[in-house]
Amino acid sequence: MSYLLRYKKYRLPLRVPLRTARGVWGEREGLLLRLEDETGGVGYGEIAPIPWFGTETMDEAEEICRALGERPSEAELASVPAALGCVRFGLETARTPVGIGGGQRLSVAALLPAGRAALLELPAKLEAGYLAFKWKVGVGAPEDELALLDDLCAMLPGYAKLRLDANGGWSRRQAAKWLDRCADRPVELVEQPLEPRDEDGLLGLAHDFPVTLALDESVLHLDAARRWQGRGWPGVFVIKPALAGPLPEIEAWALETKAELVLSSAIETVVGRRAIVRWALASGLTARPLGFGVDGVFADDRWNGPLLGAIADGHWAGATDEEALWTALN
Ligand code: MG
Repeated sequence: MSYLLRYKKYRLPLRVPLRTARGVWGEREGLLLRLEDETGGVGYGEIAPIPWFGTETMDEAEEICRALGERPSEAELASVPAALGCVRFGLETARTPVGIGGGQRLSVAALLPAGRAALLELPAKLEAGYLAFKWKVGVGAPEDELALLDDLCAMLPGYAKLRLDANGGWSRRQAAKWLDRCADRPVELVEQPLEPRDEDGLLGLAHDFPVTLALDESVLHLDAARRWQGRGWPGVFVIKPALAGPLPEIEAWALETKAELVLSSAIETVVGRRAIVRWALASGLTARPLGFGVDGVFADDRWNGPLLGAIADGHWAGATDEEALWTALN
């Protein structure tokens, strides 16, 4: 089997720039892929690198697409090196489109803005039916944010759970203080309290504090997750499929190792997001809220697709017109 491969670059402003511990993020770049097989079947995929997260760069992604040429074979598509997780994810979803998922429903964690703005946004998210929330910390002064944590927890109804994400921005000392504070609060888990290279520190925190910890930046690819499993990591793995690699590989790893997962967005467009969400529902790999509470993230709504909302079900984005998105790019 050979394919007709085409790709186009996209550059999409975010509706509201995202503030993270790594700075402000104002626009998303990536490649939209169109793969046509010998029978005329067409699939779309998306390559959405985040180089500061450790992925390949846009240049590297374009280079490999150029190298694959217009008529890559199945074997050539499969030969993309493991380090290029974004490219491999995009090619696989274009080659094997994910169908509408089963009857499972999953809660979606709403992304709250960093800092005090989280308090202002929370009521509307509760009103919209969200049961789980994610708040970026390690952005402002730790003392200010700790005070805000109490305010935020006070506003949460009993059923709601809060996920914190430090993006590796805390020192060991700051992390210990936060995790101590989280112990008797409705915190589902804390993502990446320390930077990835402080592996002993991360393992130490996981053993010293009762709150569940999750590795995110530490486990960009599955080989890293396997290495952490080998070191006895007792917590959760945040996997961003759009960065990690082909969905079937993630599924095989999770089934084999019984890894506890949070599936998370890498701010991909509706093309990548739809594939991931449908697969998450169909595979039943995790019951934890999906980290896809990023509705409306792009200023141009065509790239957001239909609202996912507070609860994902298998029919979401059933009618997305990927061909129209493809045609809209030039
Ligand atoms: Mg994270």
